[in-house]
Amino acid sequence: MTFEPAERIKALPPYLFAEIDRKKQEKIDQGVDVIDLGVGDPDLPTPDPVVEALKRASEKPENHRYPSYVGMRAFREAVSSWYRRRFGVDLDPDREVIALIGSKEGIAHFPLAFVNPGDVVLCPDPAYPVYRIGTIFAGGQPYTVPLKEENSFLPDLGSIPREVVERAKIIWINYPNNPTTADATEDFYRELVRWAKKHNIIIASDNAYSETYTGDRKPISILQIEGAKEVAIEFNSLSKTFNMTGWRIGMAVGNEELIKALGKVKTNIDSGQFNAVQEAGIVALNLPESETDRIRAIYRERREVMTKALKSIGLEPVESDVTFYVWTRVPEGYTSAEFVEKLLDEAGVVCTPGNGFGDAGEGYFRISLTVPTERLVEAARRIENLR
Ligand SMILES: *Cc1c(COP(=O)(O)O)cnc(C)c1O
Repeated sequence: MTFEPAERIKALPPYLFAEIDRKKQEKIDQGVDVIDLGVGDPDLPTPDPVVEALKRASEKPENHRYPSYVGMRAFREAVSSWYRRRFGVDLDPDREVIALIGSKEGIAHFPLAFVNPGDVVLCPDPAYPVYRIGTIFAGGQPYTVPLKEENSFLPDLGSIPREVVERAKIIWINYPNNPTTADATEDFYRELVRWAKKHNIIIASDNAYSETYTGDRKPISILQIEGAKEVAIEFNSLSKTFNMTGWRIGMAVGNEELIKALGKVKTNIDSGQFNAVQEAGIVALNLPESETDRIRAIYRERREVMTKALKSIGLEPVESDVTFYVWTRVPEGYTSAEFVEKLLDEAGVVCTPGNGFGDAGEGYFRISLTVPTERLVEAARRIENLR
């Protein structure tokens, strides 16, 4: 018997990491000590008070039943107070906050709430692949908006053809940005909000890296912009902030109608996140800033180590003090895939070719700083010794 996969599955972009995964395994089989700087998944542990809170919360029988679809009231209140403290943004926990099973879940489901077959969704490139895939699954048409270095990796809204803008329902943005390590300015957000209102387009902002900054300037939320709440939904997550990628807990906040519609989709697909995880999430959101400062200091040190190594072989990493990635142009004469292969062959270091994030990522590669510092130092040493 053969079962034909659905068109939406066949329409998925090819998995560009399959080749690098195969080569990585080949090296490991040959006994090479491979250092994987490919995946963006924090190596540091979840803070102890959060783990302790989960243990306690998991013992309460009332937590063993179905959770609320929109998240516990106490979790939504904790998100609301965190947004107030961190961004100065006021959110009504009942109408402007919803809990997610990780922000990826919300990002993937959001287009189902607003996209009809044939509607256009503006998707940045290079980017986290889920914006595009969520669009395809909803029957929408992704329209690629390239993020170019000469525009500081911000979308050039004026370059999108008028007929595309007229059919567009949603624009996805992600700052601090994975993979380009760019951050958005307040001016950009202000212009985007004005533009989105004029064209009746929803702004879907992915702020998963809001706390992963290594400089003095804190990234902002688009909801800090006057009038943003009329057109914007923001996705955020405890994953990258508190080293909780495995826990699957995040949130969407912002415009009441957008949150409500996302809630309708979720109510019909999932049944919410385990209350015990939400209770632990509350503890995370209330941790003193010294806890996240400690994590940021580690990434700052790692960024310095890797930047220095790349510069020593004549490369120019994009200057950045946000995210835990380093984004760098490959040397003259190489494609992304060729240079990544060279790093694996000659240094035993795995990193991600830029075109894995979309065509506009060709010519770059991404290094993730999420391995123990001594391994990163070793990777840097091997890169410095590259011919
Ligand atoms: C890691 C990541 C997320 C998703 O994180 P969750 O664990 O699903 O909350 C979302 N957006 C970007 C750009 C990411 O890199």
